[in-house]
Amino acid sequence: MAYPQNCFAQTTIRDYSLLGRRRHAAASNTLRYQLDVLKKTGRYDAFKLHWHPSYNDPPTVWPIPNHLFWDSDIAKWIEGAAMFLKQQPDQEIEEAIVDLVDMIKSAQQPDGYINIHFTVVGPGRRFTNLRDFHELYNAGHLIEAALAHENTFHDRRLLDPMLKYVDLLCDTFGGGRNQIPGYPGHPEIELALLRLYDHTKNTKHLELANFFLIERGNAHGWFGRHYYDVEAERRGDDPNKRPAFYPERRCLWYHQAHEPIAEQQTVEGHAVRAMYLLTAATDLKRVMPDSVGQKFESAIYRLWDNMVSRKMYITGGIGAIKQWEGFGLDYFLPQGTDEGGCYSETCAAIGVMMFAERLLQIKLDGRFADTMELCLYNAVLTSMSDDGRRFTYVNQLASSDQDPSKREEWFTCACCPPNVLRLLAQIGGYLWTHKIDEAEASAEVAVHLYTSATLKFAVGDTEVQLEQQSNWPWNGDIKFNLKTTLSKLRLRLRIPGWAKSFQISDGCPDLDVNDGYVEIPTAWLASNKTFSLSIPLIPRLIAPHPFTNQHTLSLARGPIVYCVEDIDNPWVEDHFKSTQISQDCKIEERPMQEKTSGDSLVGLTITDGASIIGANSRNNSPSMSLGSCYKSEPIRELHFIPYYHRSNRGGSGQMRVGLRREAPPVGCQT
Ligand SMILES: [Zn+2]
Repeated sequence: MAYPQNCFAQTTIRDYSLLGRRRHAAASNTLRYQLDVLKKTGRYDAFKLHWHPSYNDPPTVWPIPNHLFWDSDIAKWIEGAAMFLKQQPDQEIEEAIVDLVDMIKSAQQPDGYINIHFTVVGPGRRFTNLRDFHELYNAGHLIEAALAHENTFHDRRLLDPMLKYVDLLCDTFGGGRNQIPGYPGHPEIELALLRLYDHTKNTKHLELANFFLIERGNAHGWFGRHYYDVEAERRGDDPNKRPAFYPERRCLWYHQAHEPIAEQQTVEGHAVRAMYLLTAATDLKRVMPDSVGQKFESAIYRLWDNMVSRKMYITGGIGAIKQWEGFGLDYFLPQGTDEGGCYSETCAAIGVMMFAERLLQIKLDGRFADTMELCLYNAVLTSMSDDGRRFTYVNQLASSDQDPSKREEWFTCACCPPNVLRLLAQIGGYLWTHKIDEAEASAEVAVHLYTSATLKFAVGDTEVQLEQQSNWPWNGDIKFNLKTTLSKLRLRLRIPGWAKSFQISDGCPDLDVNDGYVEIPTAWLASNKTFSLSIPLIPRLIAPHPFTNQHTLSLARGPIVYCVEDIDNPWVEDHFKSTQISQDCKIEERPMQEKTSGDSLVGLTITDGASIIGANSRNNSPSMSLGSCYKSEPIRELHFIPYYHRSNRGGSGQMRVGLRREAPPVGCQT
């Protein structure tokens, strides 16, 4: 098993591909930009354990201190930076990493403990609020940073302190006498411990991950009661006061702690927490397939299906509800703030990709890769500007006067920007999965995502080099070139669920699609090491599930979902609420060349079949009489751009993905 975080460097992504260009922006701009922000905001020096004036600030979201996540902001930046440095040296960035690692080491307490808040602001309160205070979440991100650091620099300057901290955690948490039978309110450490176990093979690390995952949601975990109930009582929490993100008292589903994971029927609560938790649960199933794996098996697929079929936006975003940054009722997926809310946090979409990637490790099924790609090219890529210096946290599908479509320089709670950074750093590890059997001198490669890139690995002394060359996602022709003398190589290529057809080079036998992949026959491959796969990319209309009660249509082409913006359609005044399109509309492709980024992309234009409905604001009753028609005026050209590209070119921030679906109004039939 190769985690993307470990194997990404075996893939070289060409700079001219879309993914390559976004990676280039991250490596050349985002790394430095975020480093500057870390310095300006006090995060960079926080491990020196001095008091920062902002520690006195009242919490933006009560009762969470604003600086509570600073450890993780630093950790995610180190993780992303170390990954970029593995592929391209950068002295200034490396010096900052050295500096930060020294500060983290110096912040370690004699017993191994590392945490900014609980050392500086809340000493003596360690491990008293696992539910709300992100202590173990921060530890998890520091573990991941240490693994990336060790992987790049081959030294243990960060890993050793983290191992000492993990020793403390292993002693502290568990089901034994004098141990705390608790688990974190925000999962993260579980997936980090599993990755640590993969590196150390120390079963203590596996056992602690296992404990956190199995114990979660136990109604009788501490003195016969739910751990979080006893913990809150011991803290002396006022039972009538609840955190700002709780819509009700004792809101255990917010943390996915209302039931044991194996018994959960629907995906609930905070979306990022749910994704990190299920990523870890899926990975634990892989590591322990017979014991825990069996317990988790049906829950993992059930919760995935519930999420994708009922709680996911057409952009791959999840989480409609702002208050708890998470899932609403089934099919409750409004597009924007003034329609009921649309949160769709960047980290949550990244979490979907992580969950999908772990699922692909245990079951090669194109539906997981389809969703992974949907998230990547839409809900995730939209979160960073072309130049890599502006970010989104919320990724709504329609703007409003309250919430125009725009990116920000930074956030008080800044989980998303460094998360995008580290994802782009390791994205090569998501393109394909390869498995090696040294004893059999064989290998398997499954290609999930198309771009321009080369994968290199070795089976014993035999090198394998697989290159894919394409202009994906704008052009669906992909050329493959395999260089190896290895005779036993299984190669499978994903055929996306939206593809109407596909073609492999002349001479290749007809291939069946099984679970979203075609397998190139080994014998044919041996004599056809250069071949092509063509997947026509044709603009298409898509619609949300009818139960969303949104009678809308959107444009998509390949994995890209499109939106309309005021910069291309300057007549708009109402965030495109009165714009409608017909299902018979005529769609034309429009090549675009972006001046600032140099990106080439494909825009779309509806040249026939878009119109504006007459405003019904003169209607002074809650209903329209049958027979009172909307008048509509045709729009000569309605221009669309990829959703990920929004808010890069100025404008007033009016944007929409799903447009009203034209239909004859009731009562106009006569
Ligand atoms: Zn986030």
